[in-house]
Amino acid sequence: PKEKINILFLENISKTAAKKFYDAGYTSVKQIPGALSEKDLIKEIKNVHLLGIRSKSKITQEVLNNATKLQAIGCFCIGVNQVDLAAATKKGVTVFNAPYSNTRSVAELVIASSIMLIRKIPDKNKAAHEGKWIKDSSGSHELRGKTLGIIGYGNIGSQVSVLAEALGMKVIFYDTETKMPLGNAEDKSTLKEVLRLADVITLHVPDLPTTRNIINKTTLKYCKPTAMLINYARGKVVDIPALRDALVNKELGGAAIDVFPVEPEKTGDPFITPLQGLSNVILTPHIGGSTEEAQLNIGEDVSSKLFNFLEKGITTGSHTTPALSLPPQEGTHRILHIHKNVPGVLSEINTTLSENKINILGQYLKTNDDIGYVVLDVSKNISGNAVELLKKVKETIKVRLLY
Ligand code: NAD
Repeated sequence: PKEKINILFLENISKTAAKKFYDAGYTSVKQIPGALSEKDLIKEIKNVHLLGIRSKSKITQEVLNNATKLQAIGCFCIGVNQVDLAAATKKGVTVFNAPYSNTRSVAELVIASSIMLIRKIPDKNKAAHEGKWIKDSSGSHELRGKTLGIIGYGNIGSQVSVLAEALGMKVIFYDTETKMPLGNAEDKSTLKEVLRLADVITLHVPDLPTTRNIINKTTLKYCKPTAMLINYARGKVVDIPALRDALVNKELGGAAIDVFPVEPEKTGDPFITPLQGLSNVILTPHIGGSTEEAQLNIGEDVSSKLFNFLEKGITTGSHTTPALSLPPQEGTHRILHIHKNVPGVLSEINTTLSENKINILGQYLKTNDDIGYVVLDVSKNISGNAVELLKKVKETIKVRLLY
């Protein structure tokens, strides 16, 4: 019964999310503007079935231990670091996020920054604000015909590739995994090769031990002295003092940097970087993906994932429960069963049900190292009985009946 499902949304999640559930007949949707302390969250979460958060709510093991009814968490943001995923996996709590919602926003700003840098707009803009007129074409270029070097050809890198080609750029890229080049883009086998050839270099790698300071004193030496460096990925990917030296010594033509090794907590906080005051440098406060469109996409993406999980058991995009995309039910009841992934569980489930003359009309299974997720479609008249039997299977973590 929908009125018994308790939904809690924290941190001012997009209104579209609450509306989606109200419109579908869920009446218990509580919205709290900010994040809660661990203590308050433990109190609030007791009867909650679905939780929506953004990046400031910390979902610790302690919180999860107290969330006995919790089925799923929707992170209305890009990352999931704020959730203890290992603990959520063990508790059978499904965790969703919106990994692609701001891809386009970042890609557009990379193109914009490329044009600004290659036309030397930062200095001209500053001078104009200060009452100086610099009408000068020397060292200013079009992007058309120039080479864009993309480091990390994932979601964002490949989007930038498409947009850059539309502007007439030649695209080359380096990725540690084999990626299909889009359009006329060319896959290069080393970082060095890309840095040597590119007029504009843009970084789109994740924050990993293997990507720390990949742009450093040594690799900066490979770049053309006129090249522009763009970092809209993560702050620790670039050695900032080395970048400063390269810019000051005219070994690099300019830079647009949006992410920093240490970033202020919130809007209005003071901010210091060795790059301040340098010529042809654009500095932005980690807003690469911050647009109203991206926020809207996040709201729609995560609320659909939560909704499809709640109503159909679909776990596509989950970080904990194995991902199952499921067909609609046809006149049956659906049981979701999350269990520890040890040999023999499935046969125990099937034996228990068949011994009790419960016919399984549809069965879907997906497992990962730790847990298994099996979905069973059964006749409506025996579904309650089936759930009780499944609760007794030793390795059961969670069972839920959908209507
Ligand atoms: P993604 O996972 O889709 O792509 C990353 C790519 O980098 C993958 O193809 C991977 O194989 C590759 N890679 C990993 N290590 C590498 C290495 N050492 N050298 C070359 N390639 C390597 O990620 P994405 O969604 O495209 O995001 C890219 C980055 O952008 C992430 O760091 C993300 O956090 C950041 N990001 C920043 C903002 C912002 O506001 N500035 C917004 C969104 C994403």
